Amino acid sequence: MANTYDFDIGILGAGAAGLTVAAGAAQLGAKTLLVEKEKELGGDCLHYGCVPSKTLIKTAHVYHLIKNAHKFGLPRVEPLPVNFRDVAGRIRSVIGRIQKHDSEERFCNLGVRVEFGESSFKDEHTVELNGKRYSAKNWVLSTGSSPAVPPFSGLDRTPYLTNREIFSLDTLPVSMIVLGAGPIAVEMAQAFRRLGAQVHVVQRSGQILSKEDKDMADVVMNVLAEEGVIFHLNADVAHIADLGYAREVEIESKDGKKETLRAETILVAMGRRSNIEGLGLDTIGVEFDNKGIKVDNRLRTSQKHIYAAGDVIGAYQFTHAAGYEGGIIVTNAVFHLPRKTDYTFLPWCTYAKPELASIGLNEKTAQKAGIEYSVYTEAFSDNDRSLAEGSDLGKAKLLLDSSEKPIGVQLLGLHAGELVNEWVAVTNGKTKLSTLAGAVHPYPTLGEINKRLAANYFSGKIFSDKVKKALKFLFHFKGRACGTDRP
Ligand SMILES: Cc1cc2nc3c(=O)[nH]c(=O)nc-3n(C[C@H](O)[C@H](O)[C@H](O)COP(=O)(O)OP(=O)(O)OC[C@H]3O[C@@H](n4cnc5c(N)ncnc54)[C@H](O)[C@@H]3O)c2cc1C
Repeated sequence: MANTYDFDIGILGAGAAGLTVAAGAAQLGAKTLLVEKEKELGGDCLHYGCVPSKTLIKTAHVYHLIKNAHKFGLPRVEPLPVNFRDVAGRIRSVIGRIQKHDSEERFCNLGVRVEFGESSFKDEHTVELNGKRYSAKNWVLSTGSSPAVPPFSGLDRTPYLTNREIFSLDTLPVSMIVLGAGPIAVEMAQAFRRLGAQVHVVQRSGQILSKEDKDMADVVMNVLAEEGVIFHLNADVAHIADLGYAREVEIESKDGKKETLRAETILVAMGRRSNIEGLGLDTIGVEFDNKGIKVDNRLRTSQKHIYAAGDVIGAYQFTHAAGYEGGIIVTNAVFHLPRKTDYTFLPWCTYAKPELASIGLNEKTAQKAGIEYSVYTEAFSDNDRSLAEGSDLGKAKLLLDSSEKPIGVQLLGLHAGELVNEWVAVTNGKTKLSTLAGAVHPYPTLGEINKRLAANYFSGKIFSDKVKKALKFLFHFKGRACGTDRP
């Protein structure tokens, strides 16, 4: 049947998910409409998320290195205080360079019609935007997420920051109370502390980065604590007040002890909520819950011609997950080939120093899923390059299931976010552990830790008493030349 709609595919939201669908669909010849609410394409990752945060982290790291020059055999340096306007300027310039890749012009050249403004569904195939109606055979909802702001008493009457404001401040806050201890909170707490702010972190549970294994997350916390971040774990926010000259947060510990914290500013980093308001989802019967828009494993909503991807579905809120989901939608909606999502080996990383990267299951999730596993570890202190770089912190953990297949890897240490990529290839490519363990890695590199981690699994088997006995029997080896021999 002929398609009588204005467009083959319409996309609401031009972040990682929406841009992936738009580029893929248009290049495959589908007439594509891309609608963005803000003035520029790129979404949260580019403007208020990954890009500004990683740029800030790098600046903070350089400042930290300067202050610690003496630890590298250099003269002690006491740098001038940070001018945050300059830091924000660098952030803007990095965003600007990447923005070119996500420009309206580039997408227009790919064949995408780009429109800006707020839209809402009028019927299951039509949205209204700036007084005009646009219909499409298929729609994609990729409107992302916003900071979740809990209804803490007094917060609505107190100025606070979120990821929308924090990268464009005029001055470095003297002090900051960070509410939450997830990846964004932890990354920002360390960066602002390193730049010179006094930082408190308030966390309801007894662990930061609560999705990670405690042994790994605790190392990150201890590093931040040594750098001066003050943690308040197992603490609930009781009340928040604006004193004019400062903000006040009253916290209450599990055992009822109250404490009052004061700081120049508050950063709210307590998770995300999906951007679904105003879309008219009720009108068109697209189901959602408090996590986000509900989708099946082909990313179809309850209206099968409407797809949803990225943060708005509330599953894995990462840019690479949004991009992956965008690709799944292109396969389903444009190629009409059924393709399902599979998050088994979706990696992620918290870019604190040290970085904490993960792929697959960790001990927490394996236990929750009732999966039997064994753990192999390798310390960064045994990696020559890590020591040369000035870091002996962290470890790598490999989880094998009962059939001795890798089910997850966590890396905590220098450049862990880069190191995990080898495990992306190993796990997705179903490469044998023996291949990784036997492959030559250049010396001295951090990557050798991956080889050693895989080799640890085999070393117990190769250097066993049984093998030794067999070799002794076959070749009449005489055993140890130093210390006591074992039978
Ligand atoms: C501080 C911070 C740091 C982060 N760091 C990382 C990181 O290091 N690595 C990582 O993988 N992830 C990181 N993330 C998460 C990452 O930014 C998101 O997962 C990613 O942006 C999700 O992409 P998306 O396309 O779903 O949504 P978005 O990128 O948010 O794009 C959604 C777009 O939809 C638009 N929109 C909203 N409503 C409408 C509407 N009604 N009509 C039209 N358009 C609309 C929005 O303006 C936006 O442009 C970080 C997030 C934050 C906040």
